[in-house]
Amino acid sequence: MKMRLSQILFSQGFGTRRLCSGLIYNEEVSVAGELVDDPDAEFETEGLSFEVSGKTWPFYEKALILLNKPSGYECSRKPKHHPSVMNLLPAPLRERDVQPIGRLDEDTTGLLLLTDDGALIHKLTSPKHHVPKVYEAQCKHPVTPEMLAQLLAGVELREPEPKVEAAGAFGHKAAGRPKPASTVAKPAYQPELARAEGAESFGSHGLRLTLTEGKYHQVKRMVAAVGNRVESLHRPRFGALELPSDLKPGEWVWVASPKLISP
Ligand code: URA
Repeated sequence: MKMRLSQILFSQGFGTRRLCSGLIYNEEVSVAGELVDDPDAEFETEGLSFEVSGKTWPFYEKALILLNKPSGYECSRKPKHHPSVMNLLPAPLRERDVQPIGRLDEDTTGLLLLTDDGALIHKLTSPKHHVPKVYEAQCKHPVTPEMLAQLLAGVELREPEPKVEAAGAFGHKAAGRPKPASTVAKPAYQPELARAEGAESFGSHGLRLTLTEGKYHQVKRMVAAVGNRVESLHRPRFGALELPSDLKPGEWVWVASPKLISP
């Protein structure tokens, strides 16, 4: 599809149409190494990349990126206790309103996908879709063959900590006092069952789990259900995508197609 350069920049999150035209008039934009100073110059968007202020941007109708999430960041856009993962992204991606595909806890590290494609978020987080996610936990106690067998057979999850108290997912107390019980309307808890598609140990305290669901604090609650405790948690894989070994915590890369996640 052919588009005007100012429209291209606008669609890729570079600000209002006026700001985008301003960038072009100010000779900050080039295409294929050539400065372009006409906002109305048209370009084919398929396979296009362009430079803004010396940085190269590929054109993607929908943004899809892979972030190596560090500990200490919340996946929410309105974080409560820690900065949001959005702070790790450049302005055009924040402007495009990318959102995480599922969430990782504040203290979980590893592969986090973000996109502005609502249909893709829906598809990949739907329980029907069964995208496998791999988690590696270091546990407080040794991981026994009995624990692995229970995790594969299915366990009953305990009621999660109330979200207002969940600042420290490993049990640290949230700042502030809990509300008096009488003011908190508490719906009856429906026990949840959860099963791992894969469970293996590594080292004495390491546990590698493959899950296809995405229940709240699922790994930590499954591990608690078998009498152990997660001390640190990392996600090295989401669907067919693996965390690149050279991507440092806090760094991100483009994912060229959703087919790379779930062919
Ligand atoms: N399960 C958890 O308990 N925490 C995560 O961040 C992801 C899965």
